[in-house]
Amino acid sequence: MSECLFCEIVAHELDADIVHETANTLAFRDIHPVAPVHVLVIPKKHVASSQELGAATGELLAELFETIKTVAEHADVDAGHRLVTNVGAAAGQTVPHLHFHVIGGRPLSWPPG
Ligand code: 5GP
Ligand code: ZN
Repeated sequence: MSECLFCEIVAHELDADIVHETANTLAFRDIHPVAPVHVLVIPKKHVASSQELGAATGELLAELFETIKTVAEHADVDAGHRLVTNVGAAAGQTVPHLHFHVIGGRPLSWPPG
C-alpha cells in the first residue's frame, strides 16, 4: 500500500468517483464537495505540490490543464469556475500530492479565506 492517499486512488487501492482519465492524469470528485461541481485533477505520478513543477514537467503540466479544461466542459462550468491549488500546510494543503480543485456550479465570492 502506498502512504499517499492520492497515489492509492491512482493505484485503485482506494475508491474514487473518477470523471476523467488520461495517460498521465486523473480527475475525480472531491469527497467533501464545497460546490455542486468539485473535482480534483492530479498527475498520476507523485508530485508533492506546484513547487515541484517547472520546465522539466512542461508536458505533464499541459496534460493537467487539458484535463482541467475537459472536466470543466463536461461539468458545464467552462464559462465560470474556480481553479485552486493549495501549496503547503499553511495554505490549507492537506494531501501532499499535487491537485487542482475545479469548483463551480454556484456563485463564487472573492477573496477566499
Ligand atoms: P487540500 O486541502 O489538500 O487542498 O485538498 C484536499 C482535498 O481532498 C479536500 O478537498 C478533501 O475533501 C479531499 N479528499 C481528502 N480525502 C479524500 C478521499 O479519500 N477521496 C476524495 N475523493 N477526496 C478526498
Ligand atoms: Zn501521491
